Amino acid sequence: MSRTSTPGSQTSLREANRARIVDSLKHHGHLTQIELAGSTGLSPATVSNIVKELSASGVLNTSITSRSGKRATEVTLARELGLVAGLHFSSRHLRVAISDVGRTVVAENHVPLALDHRHDRELDRATLLLSDMLESVDASFSDLLSVGIALPAPVDSVSGMIATSGLLKGWEGVPVAQVMGDRIEVPVFVDNEANLGGLAEARFGAARGTRGAAYIRVSHGISAGLVINGAIYRGVTGKAGQIGHVTIDENGPICRCGSRGCLDTLAGGPALLELFRDDPGMQRIRDLLVRAESGDASARRVIADAGRHIGIAAASLCNLFDPELLVIGGELAQAGEMLLAPLRHALERSALAGSLGVSEVVPGELGDRAEVLGCLALAIENVALEAEVRASLR
Ligand SMILES: [Zn+2]
Repeated sequence: MSRTSTPGSQTSLREANRARIVDSLKHHGHLTQIELAGSTGLSPATVSNIVKELSASGVLNTSITSRSGKRATEVTLARELGLVAGLHFSSRHLRVAISDVGRTVVAENHVPLALDHRHDRELDRATLLLSDMLESVDASFSDLLSVGIALPAPVDSVSGMIATSGLLKGWEGVPVAQVMGDRIEVPVFVDNEANLGGLAEARFGAARGTRGAAYIRVSHGISAGLVINGAIYRGVTGKAGQIGHVTIDENGPICRCGSRGCLDTLAGGPALLELFRDDPGMQRIRDLLVRAESGDASARRVIADAGRHIGIAAASLCNLFDPELLVIGGELAQAGEMLLAPLRHALERSALAGSLGVSEVVPGELGDRAEVLGCLALAIENVALEAEVRASLR
């Protein structure tokens, strides 16, 4: 039988302190010993002792670095512990990345997806792609500690299934984490793509250090990830942040969710491309971006109108959620100020101004990799290291 610890005993206290250090490193990636003391609330001496012990038992790696000209010991989870993978299924792309637990990405790839893709076919393809990528770094599924998956629909955190019907038909009623986990025999964790994009931007992108931020992902659909003090707010059933289904025009077109005049029906990718339906050169958001970049007035106008509509919905989001920052990501965000300036303008007109004015609007820093980096963060957070941590207790 493994060592047991009575709550309140010396052993359980030491175990809890070790777990705090490991959790803090899962969260931040790498920290100096001083930063670890700050993030865990433990004394520098306790941190130093635990880091020494966990390094000796192979759970942590340390290296000498400098912070503001001073020597400092930087601590990470030991890369030798194993690998994690992230799979981002968006509406039109699959992006896969493999990293070590210290967050260094060792392989990355992406492939296009058909519209209305289905779970069975795509999980097969993703498994093959992941298998090839693992092979390219001399690894196999047995080296994977956990996998994070992002899906382009809200995910019910209790059932693990798509939380609402109509938004991702080919994946409805499927416990994706369980199905994929059984297939590759690795623990799998699933969340909505905007939540994971938001998590990555909040951990190591544009929203770093904010207390409350919303990441608005503008692509085929529009959705938001709400991040409070570094943690995702999902709501009770996973539907929080579905800004694409905020009603903008109650007499507007029917939306795939069954409602009318949702933001998605006015500013989602298909709605924008529909305005160019007689133009065979306008099949994807990419085509619209290229056309706008070349100075085409109607393409620029369509993007500006999308920005205005998103700004109106974002104003409601700000009035309800009161974030410090709005980070705009997703493919259409590549339009830059063409999208952001009218978005800001609409936000300023419709949002309540607080003591700091309205929320600041900035582009994402992580580009189209935000979501897959969020998948890796989700996977790392869920790596079970309790056994290793306990084994280091003498
Ligand atoms: Zn809708």
